[in-house]
Amino acid sequence: MKKVLQDLTKEELSALVEGLGEKKFRAGQIFLGLMQGKRIDELPIPSSLKARLLETYENEPVKIAETLVSKDGTKKFLFALADGNLIEGVLMKYVYGNTQCVSTQVGCRMGCKFCASTLGGRVRDLTSGEILSQILVVNRAEGGTLKARAVTNVVLMGSGEPFDNYENVVRFLRHVTAEGGICISARNISLSTCGLVREMKRFSEEGIPLNLTVSLHATCDEERARTMPIANKYKIPEILDACAGYFEKTGRRYIFEYTLISGENADETHALALAKLLKGRPCHVNLIRLNEVKERSLKAAAERDAQRFLEVLEGQGISATLRRSMGSDIAGACGQLRYSRIFPDGKIP
Ligand code: SAH
Repeated sequence: MKKVLQDLTKEELSALVEGLGEKKFRAGQIFLGLMQGKRIDELPIPSSLKARLLETYENEPVKIAETLVSKDGTKKFLFALADGNLIEGVLMKYVYGNTQCVSTQVGCRMGCKFCASTLGGRVRDLTSGEILSQILVVNRAEGGTLKARAVTNVVLMGSGEPFDNYENVVRFLRHVTAEGGICISARNISLSTCGLVREMKRFSEEGIPLNLTVSLHATCDEERARTMPIANKYKIPEILDACAGYFEKTGRRYIFEYTLISGENADETHALALAKLLKGRPCHVNLIRLNEVKERSLKAAAERDAQRFLEVLEGQGISATLRRSMGSDIAGACGQLRYSRIFPDGKIP
């Protein structure tokens, strides 16, 4: 595979262009074009320079291969990478703007039992430019520009564990928030982790005040380990400590994702235990009913049980929201679309 030009910062592009013996202002033209979601062959530069760049760099590292539109307006994108790997993303439309969910790895090796992204394991990490390009091409396809962006918010909740690809994800975050580029503020970005405590602590020192989100899905380690293998490595108290550390450094309250699974974690006793665990912490709980994955046997909690869970949390003074499940008619859950395209017969290899 060739290299990804979108991996480079504006300064790195300048060095590259100068190294090729070209005039400095070309770097600005290249940067602007790339940020507009353009391919190298479309950049407003001389064809000789295009040809030289194309010797080393991918023309189109991330390409929209398929777009599915849900009844609720949610769009699901299947992206093809230059090496033929597929990843996916979602664009959710809200009154305050459009939120794009991006992938950070091809597949995932965290092994959560409810998640389709883990079905084939981790194939490879995405480069920072491949993560960024998902946003650039969708912003363009949706008619957005750098001034009037069609993508206003970003969540790192697609396939992959962001902190299992730490360096590239942090590089991506620096690029996506940088002035002069697509420039999405850290406040409008959420990063979701299954709770890699070591990286959570490291990230607290990066000075990127985004919305740190942790997938909890259980109230004690034994139950958590039933669906999330990572629970064998890091315990809930360590996760809570790391969250507190993030709050101390950034002043940002943190968020817990809690997927409601019938017979697993969705009873009133679980709601009370969760409230007890989180009481007094500067956090918010996002509840979502399991998006059922056909290759997995887990079932979603009933709507009324989810409602009851929310009421119990709120009654205990915990800030919580029950999220609408969006795009379920278009394989909205993590990894489902990619998986259905790689293994159309639904068989796990
Ligand atoms: N690896 C990261 C981010 C990717 S998953 C993490 O674990 O947080 C994004 C969120 O979707 C996580 O909270 C994950 O637990 C949740 N999720 C995965 N599969 C799901 C499903 N089938 N139904 C509901 N939520 C799911």
